[in-house]
Amino acid sequence: MANSALTLTILAFSMIHPEHQRRAYLQAMGIDVWLPSTATEPELPADEQAAAAALSTENLTWDELRVCVSECTRCELSANRTKTVFGVGNQSADWMIVGEAPGAEEDRRGEPFVGRAGQMLDEMFRAIGQRRDTVFIANILKCRPPNNRDPKPGEAAQCRSYLERQIALVQPKIILAVGKIAAQNLLGTHDTVGRMRGRPHDLNGIPLVVTYHPAYLLRSPSHKRDSWNDLCMATRLVSEAAAA
Ligand code: URA
Repeated sequence: MANSALTLTILAFSMIHPEHQRRAYLQAMGIDVWLPSTATEPELPADEQAAAAALSTENLTWDELRVCVSECTRCELSANRTKTVFGVGNQSADWMIVGEAPGAEEDRRGEPFVGRAGQMLDEMFRAIGQRRDTVFIANILKCRPPNNRDPKPGEAAQCRSYLERQIALVQPKIILAVGKIAAQNLLGTHDTVGRMRGRPHDLNGIPLVVTYHPAYLLRSPSHKRDSWNDLCMATRLVSEAAAA
């Protein structure tokens, strides 16, 4: 490893935990670290776990990331999943759609938005001249929460670096956050969709638009008009980004 890269790795780990710092030093020097089988590792606070997770994914290729997700045991959802739901679509898409978490059908098939909400989402794509294979679709969580409950903050934190790496690899011109959970997690707020939609947001330099979750639109079709306006705004932002 080049000296500067070695220093950066050690520095990053030293902000995490003294024991991890010691191990990082040894590993960076190429020394295997063996732990006695009885050793119990000190539990890191959630934010430090998320920081360590981010470090471990930030340079991965698509293939490496896919394997990492498929083998993930960072949170308890891994115990009961059928399949991880990595995400699908065009890996160089202009549009990246972010939903909440896999449901039962998605868990069975390993693909996001394949149920009734997925059909509604496909209709939304058609309205803006896109298709499932021209956009990239991912979720806040890669595994299904039991009984489709909301993701817990710790689960979302553990999964976040996978989505961040996907965003960095796709480099979309627009992110469309569908539903409250996606928008709140991406933007780090507790606002309602009603307050977040209707204006552009920024996610590390990428324009982000919030709209209703397709499952909500199935229950409340009167909000389709608002959602259409959100999609029109997102389309405008993509055109502006292309012209800049
Ligand atoms: N709802 C989501 O938010 N994501 C899916 O993949 C399916 C349903």
